[in-house]
Amino acid sequence: MALRCWRWWPRSAWPRTRLPFAGSSPGFGQRFSTQETTPQICVVGSGPAGFYTAQHLLKHHAQAHVDIYEKQPVPFGLVRFGVAPDHPEVKNVVSTFTQTARSQRCAFRGHVVVGRDVTVAELREAYHAVVLSYGAEDHRALDIPGERLPGVLSARAFVGWYNGLPENQALAPDLSCDTAVIVGQGNVALDVARILLTPPEHLERTDITEAALQALRQSRVKTVWIVGRRGPLQVAFTIKELREMTQLPGTRPILDPADFLGLQDRIQEVPRPRKRLMELLLRAATEQPGQEEAARRARASRAWGLRFFRSPEQVLPSADGRRAAGVRLAVTRLEGAGEATRAVPTGDTEDLPCGLVLSSVGYKSRPIDPSVPFDPKLGVIPNTEGRVVDEPGLYCSGWVKRGPTGVIATTMTDSFLTGQTLLQDLRAGLLPAGPRPGYAAIQALLSGRGVRPVSFSDWEKLDAEEVARGQGAGKPREKLVDTQEMLRLLGR
Ligand code: FAD
Repeated sequence: MALRCWRWWPRSAWPRTRLPFAGSSPGFGQRFSTQETTPQICVVGSGPAGFYTAQHLLKHHAQAHVDIYEKQPVPFGLVRFGVAPDHPEVKNVVSTFTQTARSQRCAFRGHVVVGRDVTVAELREAYHAVVLSYGAEDHRALDIPGERLPGVLSARAFVGWYNGLPENQALAPDLSCDTAVIVGQGNVALDVARILLTPPEHLERTDITEAALQALRQSRVKTVWIVGRRGPLQVAFTIKELREMTQLPGTRPILDPADFLGLQDRIQEVPRPRKRLMELLLRAATEQPGQEEAARRARASRAWGLRFFRSPEQVLPSADGRRAAGVRLAVTRLEGAGEATRAVPTGDTEDLPCGLVLSSVGYKSRPIDPSVPFDPKLGVIPNTEGRVVDEPGLYCSGWVKRGPTGVIATTMTDSFLTGQTLLQDLRAGLLPAGPRPGYAAIQALLSGRGVRPVSFSDWEKLDAEEVARGQGAGKPREKLVDTQEMLRLLGR
């Protein structure tokens, strides 16, 4: 690495009261522009973490230039490929990201896989600082026998399939079975259950892909079990998602009141948001429905159920051994209290017949490049407040920084903090001095390797095409799901 000098300017030339960046005063930024080097900053990943980090840097430094590298030809990460199609309001953040990307001092470099097309070391040579914001793309395995049988899918791949992620388009989930089991009780599990059970006509005006909609129209799935090893108090989903399930047209809940015994007393001590969630669960499980609700449930042709105190032990094969036919669940009980509550097997088991098993027990990041420290156990880049440990000039934000939990708002706060840390280091003279070539150097490398990045204006053409394709069907867009087709549309 050529990071010989970590000072942005010589310390002697750095007056304490005048910082070399425009955090507080726009005028200051102007002085800087005429006298000093433009900080060239590179962000890897164009999900919420990448965009919020870029936004913070551009807002608080009047000269900084930010290039956002993204492996997909399209931006926005899980906002496009994770957030459920029937939650369009969540995707409004895209307009803020678009504003950032349209800044004169920001550029989107799509269809560039960092770690393959260009190394992190090369980026560090070219830029003053590199921020890794590449998310958590791997799913955690169940690690049980039978997990590789056809009919067992990761919820993440299923989500990618209905949301148009190119690499998941060949998934072809078999929805010809009666029952699906989702292992895990977080929001992604509820998203998947909801998409499986929502009457397809209710999804027709969303941005779900046409292929997924077709498959869901033909789906024979009638019952979805959402399984967790612990109890109601430990569920990881939130109230909005649960409420949607309780109100899902054409479905009824299956909740065992025995799972909720004594809960009423225990919820008095829990923090308010969880208390409200528990109250809703309790009502759904134990209260007699009113006349209208009872009639609605009686008419329902589909059902969803929460199965508590069950841990998957094995995926059971069909008689011919060729696909999943059920899940063997170990019955559990809880030990310990509070955060430390653990599920331990009682020794009893229960077989739950099903034709589709979706595992939704969490994600982890991958190492991006051998030169970057990585904690394989936690699945994150070791860091202190976003500074990658022992790697000056290298930062991280979002799920790769703190692990794959939290919503877009959490990711925003976290990414602003990384942006702030980076600017503090810049101010403290901890980043390399002198100009850096930024994209000019990387462009030369990429073009020598036959890689032609997709720009933000290229994305805007694809965006317009998607919107136009959706119009006939009354959809906000019909997503392009084939990378080659996207490139063809861009004249490549
Ligand atoms: P990501 O959004 O995953 O972005 C990472 C980006 O890096 C991706 O674009 C990826 O393609 C890119 N990348 C990866 N590797 C490379 C590489 N080698 N080179 C270049 N680029 C690379 N939050 C909500 O608030 N509301 C919701 O409704 C909601 N729904 C969700 C549904 C699902 C299924 C999931 C999984 C999460 C959901 N979340 C939701 C959480 C939210 O999506 C995350 O908090 C947020 O996306 C994390 O941001 P990130 O930028 O760290 O990761």
